[in-house]
Amino acid sequence: MSLAKKSPIQRRCSTGLMVGSVPIGAGAPISVQSMTNTVTTEVAKTVTQIQALQQAGADIVRVSVPTMEAAEAFKQIKSQVSIPLVADIHFDYRIALKVAEYGADCLRINPGNIGQADRVQAVVAAARHHQIPIRIGVNAGSLERDLQEKYGEPTPEALVESALRHIDHLDRLDFQAFKVSVKASDVFLAVHAYRLLAQRIPQPLHLGITEAGGLRSGAVKSAVGLGLLLAEGIGDTVRISLAADPVQEIKVAFDLLKALRLRSRGINFIACPTCSRQEFDVINTVNTLEQRLEDITTPLDVSIIGCVVNGPGEAQQADVGVTGGHKRSGFYINGVRQKLRLDNHAMIDELEQQIRAQVARLISSDRIAIQQLESE
Ligand code: SF4
Repeated sequence: MSLAKKSPIQRRCSTGLMVGSVPIGAGAPISVQSMTNTVTTEVAKTVTQIQALQQAGADIVRVSVPTMEAAEAFKQIKSQVSIPLVADIHFDYRIALKVAEYGADCLRINPGNIGQADRVQAVVAAARHHQIPIRIGVNAGSLERDLQEKYGEPTPEALVESALRHIDHLDRLDFQAFKVSVKASDVFLAVHAYRLLAQRIPQPLHLGITEAGGLRSGAVKSAVGLGLLLAEGIGDTVRISLAADPVQEIKVAFDLLKALRLRSRGINFIACPTCSRQEFDVINTVNTLEQRLEDITTPLDVSIIGCVVNGPGEAQQADVGVTGGHKRSGFYINGVRQKLRLDNHAMIDELEQQIRAQVARLISSDRIAIQQLESE
């Protein structure tokens, strides 16, 4: 069954840090992040979006703080949400000091971009004082000019050299609570850069294919790039960057992590592509149930297959399975065929009911197991 399946991936050993209550690195579950795209000073809209991201399963949300006015808004936003927030700051170190004071759980700032040494020192002192980490975010689109001239174009080596420069600022101040990203929109460039960086530093790596594209193309590009890295054990936290509703970024990230068995959340649908042999409308059933069952966070494999060609084999591997049959379809729980058969014309409602019942049984058995452990 799905719940027992372990990922064969050997993860890279990284050092650990905390972003609020979320552990990053050192074997912690790979955390899923997104970023708000509201105007930060529009506090109510930003809070609503953060809550939607949290509801979708985000572990951490990044908020851009481009001005002092936005820093004041950040303070209000922080007081209205419970999920850890990363404040995204460029150039102006005073904003970093302000949001650290206002409760930011992490600062995304590149030390090399904030000028004189005393300014870097002030930001690091604030991070240390408030016990928050820093994320260094190198991006191929904003590589330092001298590195562009040295390498001719953004190359993996150039991205890593840029990262190491920023890291050097923190090293000199003996500040080790940082994570690093080396993002690019080109999959090969990003993957190569992350591979190189993973060999150079022990700190956690935040993965992303930046400016990946729209919902479909960006999801595919991100899945290829991040999938390669994650399968090699590289990566401690991820963001899927899509020109789409940020909630979609969270959904795609979880689908990716589920496919690699690195995280589980909610239902993992296994469905056939359908053909003329299908005994009920598989596509409509899957699409409708994906929406109806979005509230379920318990991990569950559900196999929805249109006929007996592949149905029984898939159902035997799933927590809940249905195999198309004439008028009524075969139904499986925990891989075991049940006497009950589902009415093909009422498939969506009946299957939803059965899935919810199975989730309730799992939750109840978990509670009993916890109670037994507590009483021992
Ligand atoms: Fe067609 Fe059956 Fe294969 Fe689905 S499982 S694609 S219905 S043959």
